[in-house]
Amino acid sequence: MNDPLPQGAKIGILGGGQLGRMLSVAASRLGFTTHIFEPGANPPAGQVAHKITTASYEDTKALQAFAQSVDVITYEFENIPTSALDVLEKICTIHPGRKSLAVSQDRLIEKKFLTGLGLKVAPYADVTNAEDATGAIASIGVPSILKTRRMGYDGKGQMRLIEASDMTSAWQVMDGAASILEGFIDFTHEISVIAARASDGQVACYDPGENVHKDGILRSTQVPANLNTSQRMDAVLIAAKILNALDYVGVMGVELFVTADGFIVNEIAPRVHNSGHWTQNGCDICQFEQHIRAVACWPLGDGARHSDIRMENLIGADMDRMAELRKSDAALHLYGKSEVKPGRKMGHVNFRSLRSSPS
Ligand code: AMP
Repeated sequence: MNDPLPQGAKIGILGGGQLGRMLSVAASRLGFTTHIFEPGANPPAGQVAHKITTASYEDTKALQAFAQSVDVITYEFENIPTSALDVLEKICTIHPGRKSLAVSQDRLIEKKFLTGLGLKVAPYADVTNAEDATGAIASIGVPSILKTRRMGYDGKGQMRLIEASDMTSAWQVMDGAASILEGFIDFTHEISVIAARASDGQVACYDPGENVHKDGILRSTQVPANLNTSQRMDAVLIAAKILNALDYVGVMGVELFVTADGFIVNEIAPRVHNSGHWTQNGCDICQFEQHIRAVACWPLGDGARHSDIRMENLIGADMDRMAELRKSDAALHLYGKSEVKPGRKMGHVNFRSLRSSPS
């Protein structure tokens, strides 16, 4: 599929969380309709999408009907079961493609892919059994982090090791799940590049953002990031290299650690990314529109940044700030989740100021 999707075309989105919601809004602005596929009840995207299918990823009939009802399929999260992708792909194009999912669904495959491109990653060792666990501690040492290879997100499926002896309990917590042990990186700060690639190979990267995490969850993104001009260029080139190697179509988040010895790639996310939410108020074309443009085989929009932005996530009890934020002139983005829970992403807020430095 390389012809641009016409007005009224239907975009299928796997996953009905806040990213699916904001993708739906962007799609709608471009004259498309969206159909969400989501197993959970009352998802945030369901409030704004045109159609929603509530079914499990094991429900072949529901997957087939969904794929038949749309012109292209995309997704808001990378952990889609392979069996579901097999069903969908027979009927409808999926952007970004299978290779991007295979790489990002498994931390070991991801590390091998990135090093194969000549990029630096944290030192790591494969841990699939208790014997590997002992060997990994011997080769990687401490401090280090044991991470499940699959299904980890927002710091979940991760155990920090301070002493070598911590491995025994950490491996028990993993309960036999294939994992990797990653050496702890002494980074000065963390950044991410939100990059887009169109179906004809055009690449556009947003200015890198500087991210602060707490307990493995993104708290804030500041743009511009604390980088000099050549670092900024290097970061963007790393992202473009990854997108090209995957023949990628869509928006990707590339997370990098900044160290005295250069960038280390932490992970890639083949989708719109929390650290790209600043683009909604910092650029004319935000990451959500850019993603929809790419998967619809449209040319990419201009991702130039017109303002400095500080994006803050509103997580759990941060919603207590609503009275103050409602009165402020910051741009609020709320996800329509009725129940506030600790650690739950409820919304985000973009604080904008005059642009201070060039891209
Ligand atoms: P991840 O889920 O792998 O992105 O990890 C979440 C956060 O944990 C990262 O953004 C870092 O703040 C921290 N982290 C993960 N891996 C490492 C590492 N190898 N060294 C230092 N910090 C890390």
